[in-house]
Amino acid sequence: MGDEKVKEEAMRMIGMFQVLPRLVVFDLDYTLWPFYCECRSKREMPSMYPHVKGIIAALKDKGIDLAIASRSPTADIANAFLDKLNIKSVFVAKEIFSSWTHKTDHFQRIHSRTGIPFNSMLFFDDEDRNIQAVSKMGVTSIYVGDGVNLGALRQGLTEFTENQNASEKNKQRWLKKYSQNSSSSEKKDLK
Ligand SMILES: [Mg+2]
Repeated sequence: MGDEKVKEEAMRMIGMFQVLPRLVVFDLDYTLWPFYCECRSKREMPSMYPHVKGIIAALKDKGIDLAIASRSPTADIANAFLDKLNIKSVFVAKEIFSSWTHKTDHFQRIHSRTGIPFNSMLFFDDEDRNIQAVSKMGVTSIYVGDGVNLGALRQGLTEFTENQNASEKNKQRWLKKYSQNSSSSEKKDLK
């Protein structure tokens, strides 16, 4: 499937969801491209997983912000590759640095840069420990076994919707409980 065809399909898929993330965050190595960029030379011409370009174009067209969260120790190579692939400028935040935490500090920085709440973010990564840590922050986090593709996008948007519905239900439950409590205390006051 060519980039245009993937983009079309991604646009159609995104259009089927009523609630959408405000920001989609990608890991780099084994998520956008099939290698560790620290093992490559800046002079090389990199290539990405086949659906990535079309998916990025579709998200951008739909007005969804994009960001990078990578623990690569070679930000210079990563940035050179993003530049060569002509996608460097589409990201509103690029956090590329090695860290002992499993990307929780990357997400704190992305949040302070963009002001977007964690529960409005969708994240793709190929390492389970990052998925575990970041999902605890309230970010819908999707494990990718074979890079970002249309299947992963569908799964991400579906889980994002489910998480939104669950938190909305909790809110309603809480509001109901609160209003019951406050009306019963009002009754007490009347007595
Ligand atoms: Mg990775």
